[in-house]
Amino acid sequence: MAMSPTLNPFEISQRQLDMAAEKLNLDPQVHAFLREPMRTLEVRFPVRMDDGSVRTFTGFRVQYNDARGPTKGGLRFHPEETIDTVKALAAWMTWKTAVVDIPYGGGKGGVICNPKELSIGETERVARGYIRAIGRFIGPEIDIPAPDVYTTPQIMAWMMDEYSTIVGHNAPGVITGKPLPLGGSLGRGDATARGAVYCILEAAKILGIDLSSATVAIQGYGNAGYYAAKLMQELAGSKVVAITDSRGGVYARSGIDPEVAFQHKKQQGSVAGLAADRPLTNQEILELDVDILIPAAIENVITQANAGQVKAKIIAEAANGPTTPEADQILYANGKYLIPDFLCNAGGVTVSYFEWVQNIGGYYWPIDEVYARLKDKMVKAFHETHDMAQMHHIDNRIGAYMVSVRRVAEAMRLRGWV
Ligand code: GLU
Repeated sequence: MAMSPTLNPFEISQRQLDMAAEKLNLDPQVHAFLREPMRTLEVRFPVRMDDGSVRTFTGFRVQYNDARGPTKGGLRFHPEETIDTVKALAAWMTWKTAVVDIPYGGGKGGVICNPKELSIGETERVARGYIRAIGRFIGPEIDIPAPDVYTTPQIMAWMMDEYSTIVGHNAPGVITGKPLPLGGSLGRGDATARGAVYCILEAAKILGIDLSSATVAIQGYGNAGYYAAKLMQELAGSKVVAITDSRGGVYARSGIDPEVAFQHKKQQGSVAGLAADRPLTNQEILELDVDILIPAAIENVITQANAGQVKAKIIAEAANGPTTPEADQILYANGKYLIPDFLCNAGGVTVSYFEWVQNIGGYYWPIDEVYARLKDKMVKAFHETHDMAQMHHIDNRIGAYMVSVRRVAEAMRLRGWV
């Protein structure tokens, strides 16, 4: 059935669910419930700015589904944040926690703001103001936020402190992605990228690709993109030949040193301008002749307009929602191997879960234990998805949906909701 393309992320998430529901023969009552979030909160809160004025900020928190456990998911500080983006991301968190089989539901939050224009003091006051506004809505047994686009461990620390002040006791389990001295977990920093690389290693085995001679292009050079570059080199022996961020980037045939690029971005605010063979736009990087393409920035970058030009054999979605449903069809028809976002980037929330377990237990694990447990979770989820997709002759995204939706539906049924 031909449908007009939409770039509304929430409508995209609903369409993806609809496709999986059809394949699963999902009970229509379960399907109807899963098409909308269980709870949506929109808040406005005042923040004193450095110049003495007071500005009103808008924030959101969506608890999409908690059948499998407390809702879990990050917080974005973004100037273009919308409730529909947050709803989509909360839905994807529901499928993400289910695909790696951790005992959580899915949630997401955000504040409309431009962090690049806020001072450190203003950022702290936005973080604390947001937690005062949503404090009664979250908790270690209710809904557990974490970092996402433009939010950091320092921001998590302020939020944890604010929440602890509200409830009157130290409550590290309310938020994950904290700095280590405040109950953070070893291995949380690079967990999203590490999980993605574990998936790429499995995909390469299936496809017979020798990663030690493979080339990699990475769109986005934040937490996921930077660590993906580093770990593709360290764990796979691959060569990163192209990187971009929101201001553009570079191509270098002989390879880019991830550390040098990181330092360049730190000093100049972007990887654009790094010494290399040539500059690269965010459009060009997606169409490069490389073996592995890692979209690690934002939503809706691979669309029906450019999907036909994607040359990479493996597309590993470290970002949330980078590919539209129309593009999915084109990539699948062209024989591309796509590792879908909520599987590919599930390493972050998996180590968040380990962090929460360590906070509750009050006992902290060595790094090797974190890596080993993360690898177990990712490899298992990868193969369950791959096998489901192969069995039903569908793309990996719908395969992953089938694995996840079935788990959430089962939890709803056992609870007696349906
Ligand atoms: N924001 C990350 C994600 O989209 C991590 C969420 C978490 O750790 O709870 O998966």
